[in-house]
Amino acid sequence: MRDIPQSFSDAMLCWYERNARDLLWRYPEGEKPDPYRVWLSEIMLQQTTVQAVKEYFQNFTKTFPDIYALAEADREKVMAMWSGLGYYSRARNLHKCAIEVVSKYNGVFPDNEKDLKALPGIGDYTAAAILAIAFDKKAVVVDGNVERIISRVFEIDTPLPKGKKAIKEKTSSVWPKTRHSAFAQSLMDLGATVCTPKNPRCDLCPVHDFCGAFKKGTMETYPFKAKKKKVPQRKAAAFVFIRENQDKNQYEVLMRQRPENGMLAGLTEVPCSPWSASQDVPKETWMDYAPFQVEWQKMPAPVRHVFSHVKLDLHVYVCRKPVKGYNLREGETWVKTSDLLEKGIPTVMKKVLLSAGIDF
Ligand code: SF4
Repeated sequence: MRDIPQSFSDAMLCWYERNARDLLWRYPEGEKPDPYRVWLSEIMLQQTTVQAVKEYFQNFTKTFPDIYALAEADREKVMAMWSGLGYYSRARNLHKCAIEVVSKYNGVFPDNEKDLKALPGIGDYTAAAILAIAFDKKAVVVDGNVERIISRVFEIDTPLPKGKKAIKEKTSSVWPKTRHSAFAQSLMDLGATVCTPKNPRCDLCPVHDFCGAFKKGTMETYPFKAKKKKVPQRKAAAFVFIRENQDKNQYEVLMRQRPENGMLAGLTEVPCSPWSASQDVPKETWMDYAPFQVEWQKMPAPVRHVFSHVKLDLHVYVCRKPVKGYNLREGETWVKTSDLLEKGIPTVMKKVLLSAGIDF
């Protein structure tokens, strides 16, 4: 590792003045940011791209313009608006956090690390981002962009996640004494637009004079990463039961609520067999989990969905025949196909319904 002079931060801040991205949740330097919008954007941006977040952020802030509106909203409404962004525990915690900020802090976000981290869904990174960006306090914010830049500049070769400690220390060593908000965002923007994972634009980079990897042409080898563990595969059957409702102009689908813990907790799904490794629940037993025994039509290809920690293949079975006397079980309900989008259905279930030919 090399040492570099303090002017790293000056170079970054100068570059940021001319090159800051124009983002919906951004505030020009000198203007006081709204911590609600900063917090909301940071939660949405976790594991999601800026491009994907833009529309959600716009819709969310239109429907819930402040923390009071979000705290008062029904959870189902919040989940429905989040639908498609993935990682649904973030949405649940977002709602819980809003309720807590209103009840405990009268709607005003705390401006210290300890109280922020005690709120639902706020960990080290988000607390630092809120402190730096919303309150302009010194808090070393290290996201994936910062990891990439700093590991390249200082040639940190300890693989992630072990290398995080050295990266944080080096980030702290170049952090300026003032303008924390601008500096944190300058690193994020440089990582997103110049110091990209592939083909970094080092010719445009304000800190190339300080960058060890650039001097050696080894930029793309950083950050070093520990070998990824194989993502486990799960398989299951999903049962799409469609019926014509009484006024004969509408179709309804049998849906149910997932348990309150585990994957996609509390969200709406079609009845499924357990999402298990194939050796735990053999394929031959899938039909035991069908809502009723009838001849189900199997869709030709399974629906594939990759979560962060598991790959899922759902084999879709469809029934469109009227079944007399079906009694709803606990948690089950009939949902009109035209109302499906309002139900906060996770992406994997949208794929299942589409593969069964449901248009919504
Ligand atoms: Fe990244 Fe290149 Fe700048 Fe180094 S010189 S920080 S590798 S863009």
